Amino acid sequence: MNELPVMEQFLTLQGEGYHTGKSAVFIRLAGCDVGCVWCDVKESWDAEKHPVLSVSEIVKKTLDYRTDFVVITGGEPTLYDLTILVDTLKKQNKYVAIETAGTNPLPDNIDWVCFSPKKFKKPHPSIYQKVNELKVVVYHPSDLKWAIEHADKVVNNDAHFYIQPEWSRSDEHFPLVLSFLNENPHWRLSLQTHKFLNIP
Ligand code: SF4
Repeated sequence: MNELPVMEQFLTLQGEGYHTGKSAVFIRLAGCDVGCVWCDVKESWDAEKHPVLSVSEIVKKTLDYRTDFVVITGGEPTLYDLTILVDTLKKQNKYVAIETAGTNPLPDNIDWVCFSPKKFKKPHPSIYQKVNELKVVVYHPSDLKWAIEHADKVVNNDAHFYIQPEWSRSDEHFPLVLSFLNENPHWRLSLQTHKFLNIP
């Protein structure tokens, strides 16, 4: 698509998962077909409340910053065909990552796919072929078993596996997460470091 609804675009650090600590431009697309009860960006859900920008406007704004790392997030960014946006960013030598619940098929040109499945909507089966990073948010103890079920479907032998306590329940669930990590040592802990730092 040549135009996309954008809730916000900003320079920050990637707070979670494999690329934690990297300077990144986040492009937060508006619209979500998932509806997590614990969502911390509910204002992204209604795409009509946000401006529709052209791909060239979006890409131009990423050039204001020195980092070459761009994260497309949402909302649920796979609601839209992102092929043109990703191609245009890559022509500007950007490394393009996506954060997605995988509810719709992804284009093939994305450099890094962080798949974070959500119980509120089943992922599209094609996502398991494209995962570089599986990041499962633990909101309920049953999410740990559910994490393994998703990991078993990931095709890429080099994929990275992260378990992340949901922010509002992290104290409550940390002992469970710790025990999970000790029993499944190829998984790693992901924390929402941007929330500790109080940055977006
Ligand atoms: Fe919120 Fe993301 Fe869940 Fe959508 S998929 S409801 S944006 S946490």
